[in-house]
Amino acid sequence: MIEIDSITKVYGGTTVVDAVSMTIETGTITVIVGTSGSGKTTLLRMINRLVEPTSGSVRINGEATSDIAPHLLRRRIGYAIQGHGLFPHHSVGRNIAAVPRLLGWPKDKIAARVDELLALFGMEPGAFRDRFPAELSGGQQQRVGVARALASRPDLLLMDEPFGALDPIIRARAQADLREIHQKLGSTIVLVTHDMEEAIRLADRVGVMDGGKLVQHGPPEEIVARPANGFVAEMVGDAERPMRLLSLIPVRGLVEDGAAPGEPLRDDASLRDALSECLWTGRDAVPVTRDGAVIGRVTLNAIRTRVGRHA
Ligand code: ADP
Ligand code: MG
Repeated sequence: MIEIDSITKVYGGTTVVDAVSMTIETGTITVIVGTSGSGKTTLLRMINRLVEPTSGSVRINGEATSDIAPHLLRRRIGYAIQGHGLFPHHSVGRNIAAVPRLLGWPKDKIAARVDELLALFGMEPGAFRDRFPAELSGGQQQRVGVARALASRPDLLLMDEPFGALDPIIRARAQADLREIHQKLGSTIVLVTHDMEEAIRLADRVGVMDGGKLVQHGPPEEIVARPANGFVAEMVGDAERPMRLLSLIPVRGLVEDGAAPGEPLRDDASLRDALSECLWTGRDAVPVTRDGAVIGRVTLNAIRTRVGRHA
């Protein structure tokens, strides 16, 4: 668990992070979202002491970060930044191995870890470990950057706009990748972005920053359904609220008895998928399956009613 307690940063009389407090549960993804200049990067960097707080404290599993030497702290906390920050003259393997080498891991343990991570990220170790960053696609470079941040098995991974440099299509893939990796590794992730869509898609908890203040902190459903103020509402995009809400609700909650024609959807698909399917194929209900067997249907009416409650 990470406990951030009233953390503040003042630069030359300007408060850029203003008494932010939040508790981050172990194994969750927290996404800090806000416009440019709202203090996201500064907040993130105060967690690993790349920036020293003016006041306030951070505890990681009960231990105050102020009691840990910054260089030791940074070896324990993974850090991935926009544009991946890979060393261009080092091979992929050596890039991933950077922190384990600093920690003095034995060679064979490092080699095994590099190959394990490459495999985890869907990159065949034999084909990729000796390549150089310039020989990779943008998406592959991004994955290597994240693999490097994870190499020493940090309890905590900080990510600053990690997908900012990717085009929207690769970006969606990279986000899906990250969720999958997270499910496998169970590490705690704090990710910063200016993109509310990305926040909603990735986060267990979203923290919204505005002018250095944390204006709302909660599950994505809550941010979408009950924005704390006009700024949050604007970020969520009033017009898109119903659709965003639909994309967060699985079909399984609205399944009712009865048959429906045509291609079925799985019960973990979202209501947004169900709605698109209905509209696209002109049906007013879609069959729903679980483990390959039809368990009922979801109707256009039920979806409408579900959105209506929040509209
Ligand atoms: P974000 O990541 O949300 O875009 P930052 O945390 O980078 O915001 O910056 C927040 C504010 O703090 C900005 O106004 C920025 O100009 C200012 N700032 C950031 N770092 C420094 C610094 N080292 N010295 C002075 N001002 C800074
Ligand atoms: Mg920033």
